[in-house]
Amino acid sequence: MSTGHLTIDLDALAENWRALDAKSAVETAAVVKADGYGLGTEPVARTLAKAGARRFFTAVAEEGAAVRATLGPGPMIGVFSGHMPGDTDLIRDNDLTPMLNSVDQVLRHLESLPQQSFGIQLDSGMNRLGMEPAEWAALREPVLQQRPALLMSHLACADEPDHFMNEKQLRSFREMTDGLDIPRSLAATGGTLLGPDYHFDLTRPGVGLYGGRPFEDARPVVTLDLPVIQTREVMPGESVGYGNTWTAQRPARIATVAAGYADGLPRIMAPKLGLWHGDQRYPLAGRISMDLITVDITGMEGDVPEFLSLLGPHQGVDDVADAAGTIGYEILTSLGGRYARSYRS
Ligand SMILES: *Cc1c(COP(=O)(O)O)cnc(C)c1O
Repeated sequence: MSTGHLTIDLDALAENWRALDAKSAVETAAVVKADGYGLGTEPVARTLAKAGARRFFTAVAEEGAAVRATLGPGPMIGVFSGHMPGDTDLIRDNDLTPMLNSVDQVLRHLESLPQQSFGIQLDSGMNRLGMEPAEWAALREPVLQQRPALLMSHLACADEPDHFMNEKQLRSFREMTDGLDIPRSLAATGGTLLGPDYHFDLTRPGVGLYGGRPFEDARPVVTLDLPVIQTREVMPGESVGYGNTWTAQRPARIATVAAGYADGLPRIMAPKLGLWHGDQRYPLAGRISMDLITVDITGMEGDVPEFLSLLGPHQGVDDVADAAGTIGYEILTSLGGRYARSYRS
């Protein structure tokens, strides 16, 4: 086996859900879009249901159907993209609850599936999904008569607690929904951490469950170990990798490990990334290629280990994201299909 080993700690996932649940006095859902943030819909949804989640959210109806196949009847499965053309059968057959985003979606849903539960997504300022305040004002009386399961909106800047946008969106959401006798949800991971004003009836964290910022107290969920294929000695003046970007200044020892940008490890992070063995960090030498990474292990004591660690106790998803100039969400959802995945619980 020469592929990287991706280990997903399902106990940590469950513990993160419980820890986020304990941050509010209200119900906590679980966002499992994009294949459970790249970690696998089935084990992720099963674990979170066992931890106590009773409502799940996906981005699109196809993902919702996969969650339903895993969990069976019972839990609510909400779909953020709402009721798209062609989704009607999926929504009905899998008992999904689309979060309707526009007048068109409301009409489509009520005409095609008048008995099927739905939520309403409102735009409180992010200008991405949901009905604008004026649209909602025009539509809300007839919609409310159909008893939506949820009124929801999404925060643009919740990972920055002092950002003016948080209060602004809170005000807008309240103006659109205060006084209505329908459950409400505004907070994802960031909003959950902003405190009770943001919790309403249901929080819906995603990234924090999987160990990512802004939930700083999260337990890490993924580890990634890369097998060492071979090692070699290089002499001063010799270069390593594409483009000769790394040249040995002293006699050096190079390990070549099996993973590359085809496995979701962005080339751009090479100068800032290290691989780990125990408590020791080893910098990359030269560029990340499609399937291989070269590491400067000069000075390593003892036998060369079978694996070097890319994600582990010393270097988490957000550290790797920082090195790549991106966010943990992107690292998680880019984790490649080539890794040997194992789930620990
Ligand atoms: C992705 C998403 C979430 C979860 O967000 P996190 O930042 O991952 O917690 C919640 N609500 C909506 C509408 C989303 O798109």
